Amino acid sequence: MNPLNPVIGIKKRIALVAHDNKKKDLLDWARFNRITLSRHHLYGTGTTGSLLERELDLPITQFKSGPIGGDQQIGAKICEGAIDFLIFFWDPLEPQPHDPDIKALLRLAVLYNIPTASNRATADFIISSPLMGEEYENPTPDLVRYLQNRAAK
Ligand code: PGA
Repeated sequence: MNPLNPVIGIKKRIALVAHDNKKKDLLDWARFNRITLSRHHLYGTGTTGSLLERELDLPITQFKSGPIGGDQQIGAKICEGAIDFLIFFWDPLEPQPHDPDIKALLRLAVLYNIPTASNRATADFIISSPLMGEEYENPTPDLVRYLQNRAAK
């Protein structure tokens, strides 16, 4: 990927993650949106991914479970330009042992201008956007500015 000129293709690469108390919400949402999701490439952290694969009967590329590095793997894929979307139902009411990893993933999602849903309403708006069926040039202004400043030094 050229970070200065990234494009999100028609077939999106969507990462799906949910903390334990939010897994049922994500499974309900994914079941409701199964047909739309089936048009894209799906990825998930270990437990979320295997639950979704069973629920949807669709292939999901699975990373490690979140607390043992799965969130970091998704962050790395975002850096490589290999993930376009993040649906991450994180739990606002329970502390997580891998909180630094979660924060790192959310930071990279912002930096790379990744459409991100942290709750169901946002996920509903994202998945029903007409842009889901189109190519999208995805500007990354923070990244571009950073690279330009480095080059000028
Ligand atoms: P899990 O990880 O899908 O393996 O439960 C999610 C997370 O806690 O980040």
